[in-house]
Amino acid sequence: MTEVVEDIVIVGAGIAGLTTSLGLHRLGIRSLVLESSESLRVSGSAILLWTNAWKALDAVGIADSLRQQHQLIDRIAVASTIPGEAPSEKSLKTKGKHGDHEVRCVKRKLLFEALETELPSGTIRYSSKVVSIEESGCFKLVHLADGTILKTKVLIGCDGVNSVVAKWLGFKKPVFSGRSGMRGCADYKGSHGFEPKFLAFFGKGIRCGFRPCDDQTVYWFLTWTPSSQGN
Ligand SMILES: Cc1cc2nc3c(=O)[nH]c(=O)nc-3n(C[C@H](O)[C@H](O)[C@H](O)COP(=O)(O)OP(=O)(O)OC[C@H]3O[C@@H](n4cnc5c(N)ncnc54)[C@H](O)[C@@H]3O)c2cc1C
Repeated sequence: MTEVVEDIVIVGAGIAGLTTSLGLHRLGIRSLVLESSESLRVSGSAILLWTNAWKALDAVGIADSLRQQHQLIDRIAVASTIPGEAPSEKSLKTKGKHGDHEVRCVKRKLLFEALETELPSGTIRYSSKVVSIEESGCFKLVHLADGTILKTKVLIGCDGVNSVVAKWLGFKKPVFSGRSGMRGCADYKGSHGFEPKFLAFFGKGIRCGFRPCDDQTVYWFLTWTPSSQGN
């Protein structure tokens, strides 16, 4: 059994864990990120990032390179089969409560790679599944599946929906929304020709839509609630 001492341990190398670690790094603070999978989880398709997220990415210094690779979405159009709900379209060019809107659909792989590249090598420790946590004075003892114990002053949970850290802290169990979903990206050989618009369609328990990431890629999603008759 090995015992390692670290100042700050972050559990989970998802968007939250990597961004937290990069934010600390920009302040000159080292952290160790534990990730249960063997490598960066770049699978998935794309994710819509709104104004606040861009402010966070600006703060950690990776927003501009991602801006160059993803187009600005300037409108949202919603069509619904719900009686009385007329199709609507909203411009994102108008100012919001906190200034200009910035909405782009970012490819997960590019976001993850941008975050990982900026972190000092050795920051992410892969194949490191946290199985339990215990308190020991002012330290936390973080037990990994391979028997390693990490002793840390600060433990940050970024381990997603079934978080071991949240469970240890006594948070409530996640609630199943009853909604299932699928999503993907369509890669065109040339320009797809769609406007920089987020299109969404609601009705009979289904929500679906699509939005361009860049000139050649369109992200799409479909979610449904099997028993729902509503929206
Ligand atoms: C593989 C994947 C693909 C996705 N694809 C899309 C998409 O295409 N579009 C979209 O809108 N959203 C997608 N999502 C959801 C979206 O990325 C997340 O909901 C959101 O980013 C929340 O991120 P997070 O960092 O808080 O948590 P997560 O993204 O869930 O990251 C948590 C990380 O912690 C790790 N982890 C969990 N438990 C432990 C443990 N005990 N020990 C060590 N590590 C642990 C997980 O392996 C994971 O890498 C995806 C999520 C994942 C995990």
